[in-house]
Amino acid sequence: MRDGFVRRVIKRVALWNFYVNVTATRAWRRRRGAAPYILGGDCRRCARCCEAPGIQVGWATWYLPTLRRLFLWWQRTVNGFELADRDPRQRVFVFRCSHFDWTTRSCDSYGSRPGICRDYPRNLLDQPGPELHPGCGYRPVARNAARWLRVLEAQPLTPEQRRQLKTGLHLDVDSEPGAPGPGPRGGTWCAWPGGSGGGSPPPE
Ligand code: SF4
Ligand code: SF4
Repeated sequence: MRDGFVRRVIKRVALWNFYVNVTATRAWRRRRGAAPYILGGDCRRCARCCEAPGIQVGWATWYLPTLRRLFLWWQRTVNGFELADRDPRQRVFVFRCSHFDWTTRSCDSYGSRPGICRDYPRNLLDQPGPELHPGCGYRPVARNAARWLRVLEAQPLTPEQRRQLKTGLHLDVDSEPGAPGPGPRGGTWCAWPGGSGGGSPPPE
């Protein structure tokens, strides 16, 4: 169901809160040297990230019933996310989005979509081995990729070995936008605690 005026206003306020949070969190992580990847590639508008949006939450939200109920109520009432599954290992709630049209693979409230939808897959770049949705046009690129590529070029490797190393070490800096990334890698969830920020627009 399309967002009405009131829901759009509430989501706009939540979006600014989301941006403030992720900007501060990422700046802090970068200062600590804990942000190993940058984002390469481009969005292909396949809408895979709309099929089962997931949000990883903190310990308190996962374990405290009142906080958990409040979180799930917000997701259902404001974002239109109905709880579909849980992954206790990673404290991830997986949802079914009521704004997603499976036939046209489009979002009926694209202009007011939440921050986690705009951010995917930037939220994954802080992980040691980011796993994007299969077929996603984005890919993680190691921050020091250019230096490692020079090292690789100097080694006596076959083209296949070179290709495998480039993929495995996330050194693929020069693929055409929208060209295949490292390839299908699994992964069923797309967001995190307060999300992540920045822009992976699924189809309008
Ligand atoms: S972009 Fe729209 S359809 Fe996709 S998950 Fe977000 S709100 Fe749902
Ligand atoms: S960000 Fe989402 S819509 Fe864009 S290519 Fe990746 S999975 Fe598809």
